[in-house]
Amino acid sequence: MAYDQENIFAKILRGEIPCNKVYEDDHALAFHDINPQAPVHVLVIPKGEYVSMMDFTANAPADLMAGFMRAIGETARELELEENGYRILANAGEHAHQDVPHLHIHILGGKPLGPMLDRKFKGA
Ligand code: 5GP
Repeated sequence: MAYDQENIFAKILRGEIPCNKVYEDDHALAFHDINPQAPVHVLVIPKGEYVSMMDFTANAPADLMAGFMRAIGETARELELEENGYRILANAGEHAHQDVPHLHIHILGGKPLGPMLDRKFKGA
């Protein structure tokens, strides 16, 4: 899938749309999700044109991959989530309901988050 320069996170990176910033460095930007699903819900995006985790892990240079991972950790520290813990997830593609086609990691925390996925799943 080709990268869409007009996706909402590309606009946030270019400063065309505001965000509530938590952390920024050369490799990444972190900001609060507009529709939080936990007391703390922050998105971390790489500074580069990558549609998804598939695209990023196949095509991003090593320094950006390392910097992006470090930025996720820095953001969690900035949010003071280390003591009680937090969850990170990335939706990739159709089955995961990825809505915005610029790679983003969700950081969720601020309360006990419950099971990771629907416990009713009993196999295929
Ligand atoms: P996805 O479903 O693609 O993994 O998650 C996209 C996330 O982006 C959603 O949680 C949604 O609330 C968030 N989001 C969508 N548009 C905006 C926006 O303009 N600003 C911010 N801060 N978050 C957004």
